[in-house]
Amino acid sequence: MPELPEVETVKKQLSPHIIGRTIPKVTLLWDRMVKGQDAQEFVRRIAGQKIIDITRHGKYLIVSLYSGDKLIIHLKMSGSLILGKNDSEPPKYTRAIIHLDDGQNVFFRDPRKFGVLKLLKDLKEIDAKLGPEPLEKEFTLKLFTEGLSKRTAPIKALLLDQKFLAGVGNMYADEALFLARIDPRRAANTLKNAEIRRLFDAIHEVLNAGLKYGGASIVTYYHPDGTMGTAHQHFNVAHNQKKECPVCGGPIERVVVRGRGSYYCPKCQK
Ligand SMILES: [Zn+2]
Repeated sequence: MPELPEVETVKKQLSPHIIGRTIPKVTLLWDRMVKGQDAQEFVRRIAGQKIIDITRHGKYLIVSLYSGDKLIIHLKMSGSLILGKNDSEPPKYTRAIIHLDDGQNVFFRDPRKFGVLKLLKDLKEIDAKLGPEPLEKEFTLKLFTEGLSKRTAPIKALLLDQKFLAGVGNMYADEALFLARIDPRRAANTLKNAEIRRLFDAIHEVLNAGLKYGGASIVTYYHPDGTMGTAHQHFNVAHNQKKECPVCGGPIERVVVRGRGSYYCPKCQK
């Protein structure tokens, strides 16, 4: 699933192509990706709107429109936004086409069909679901320490909780816990100060590396220009079951933590 580095990369690549453009229309090939309103009403309301900005919050893309409307895009499990010409053949699994007034299209490709399109008047609904942005100043070691001290959930589950921390998902949580040498199953409130500090630094390190490599393309993630990210080539443990730990040489194992497959080194992570 695209996480903070993947979604941020999409935002950066799309920005110069869509800001200032008008959307003559949106073609829906899978109506049910529109959430919270009737699909035809969505299509009517978005037609003719000018794009002012595109931002990211957590794993959401937020396209601000001239009327004040916000087009919310969530790539969920398998979504990609791919740029192409108006007359080009839509990529396989295209579920929606955002037409632009300069003859370009943004194709919402989504094999698994979990992706979401939504028009909102404001961002209250989105903001209410999301905790601090891990790469912004609002995410401090103090805030992180206090948050962990109150929670008994496994640390891995807490890192995936978008209300606790926005934008971290399965891959980067596994990578951060590996760097911090912490077992994903540990109860959050049992982490010692030195471990919390390591984890705090590790979250920054793995997300910044993810951004540097244009995100990870484990399965279906594509950049808007159709290329793939390379962050997964630098992962230590995520999706590396049965491979060797780069630190101790022991096998990477997979455990299920609150329903999510988690890769870790049983020797290095305690
Ligand atoms: Zn190891």
